[in-house]
Amino acid sequence: MSDKNYPDDLHIDTLAVHVGVDRSQYGENSEALYLTSGYVQPDAATAARRFSGEEEGYTYGRYGNPTVSTFERRLAALEGAQACISTSSGMSAVLMMIMGLLKAGDHIVCSRSMFGSTIKLVSDFARYGVESSFVSQTDVAQWQAAVRPNTKLLFAETPTNPLTDVCDIRALADIAHNAGALLAVDNCFCTPALQRPVALGADLIIHSGTKYLDGQGRIVAGALCGTQKLVKEVFMPVLRSAGMTLAPFNAWVVLKGLETLSIRMQAQSLRALELAQWLQDQPRVARVYYSALSSHPQHELAMAQQSGQGGAVLSFDVRAADPDQARTRAFAVLDTVRTISLCTNLGDVKTLVSHPASTSHGRLTEVQRQAAGIGQGLIRVSVGLENVNDLKADLAHALDAIEK
Ligand SMILES: *Cc1c(COP(=O)(O)O)cnc(C)c1O
Repeated sequence: MSDKNYPDDLHIDTLAVHVGVDRSQYGENSEALYLTSGYVQPDAATAARRFSGEEEGYTYGRYGNPTVSTFERRLAALEGAQACISTSSGMSAVLMMIMGLLKAGDHIVCSRSMFGSTIKLVSDFARYGVESSFVSQTDVAQWQAAVRPNTKLLFAETPTNPLTDVCDIRALADIAHNAGALLAVDNCFCTPALQRPVALGADLIIHSGTKYLDGQGRIVAGALCGTQKLVKEVFMPVLRSAGMTLAPFNAWVVLKGLETLSIRMQAQSLRALELAQWLQDQPRVARVYYSALSSHPQHELAMAQQSGQGGAVLSFDVRAADPDQARTRAFAVLDTVRTISLCTNLGDVKTLVSHPASTSHGRLTEVQRQAAGIGQGLIRVSVGLENVNDLKADLAHALDAIEK
């Protein structure tokens, strides 16, 4: 059906621009966008076979579309996974995973530093009898200690948002497998261009396609990668009945984003590192969080897992005497940047800044926030593709806005 003539040892950069295509009779070189909700069937008997799953073939847009399939095949190839199923958002990929794998009485172990909405969604499943434990991102012994006989899933995200804490994927995979459980990794921050968790033993990969996979801040999308068997037998039935379907147009946008993923991640990581090093030397900056800095507590593990790169998200604390002053100073910086956008998203080619304590982590109490290390003076930077000197100049000007 597709990819018939490609050699099977292609580099990931080549896969990113070629793999997964199901070219139509017109021979288009750029991937086609199929905007259709239904598919005309050749005859009733074929339709019956397709609906029952006996025969391959598109039947209805909630659970199949050629543009969406191309995106799924390409992302699976980049992750080194057997299969992929896409969803309308990153959060609905998490929902699909939990709905597919867990039932009342099962238990999930998660990092305490996961994306806020992930923590909320996992916790909300207590209503349906799914128990959860939240442990330290970095302390492997806590993950081991949290495992119970009914543990079915370990779920981690690395590096974390916004403090860039790293977890040891291989160690967590061993803990999961010894317990007869699966390990899922949210690979949103590094993407397969830098980090391939399947090669380190992870069973499932969660993606927010909204971030680096699209890469230009245009659409909301998600995906779940895993074995052919899990995708076909466990997750596809969830998609069919629950309908968290990725729209063909959004699939096409994120599919084209994959073609430039690797060079964007390399270029944005280089800029992030240069900016992080520069920020460390600024007198108004108290601390910089970025895994490619040698001062990062897990620098070596991060560099081993992330192809020697830090990715493009970093954070820093502005220097201040107390939380009130820290908030005032952080707000002064955010209100003064001119080139950089004040925007709570990440993974765009435009550099974005945000204040985690009042946005992404605004629902936590001050005590919870302090425990998580998210102070009032913390600023997150999602570094884009601008010239790095322009970014430094913008931040220098903004840091100057802090009164002495
Ligand atoms: C944004 C994000 C998500 C959720 O993705 P959406 O596409 O916004 O639903 C999940 N995990 C991480 C790490 C994210 O940054």
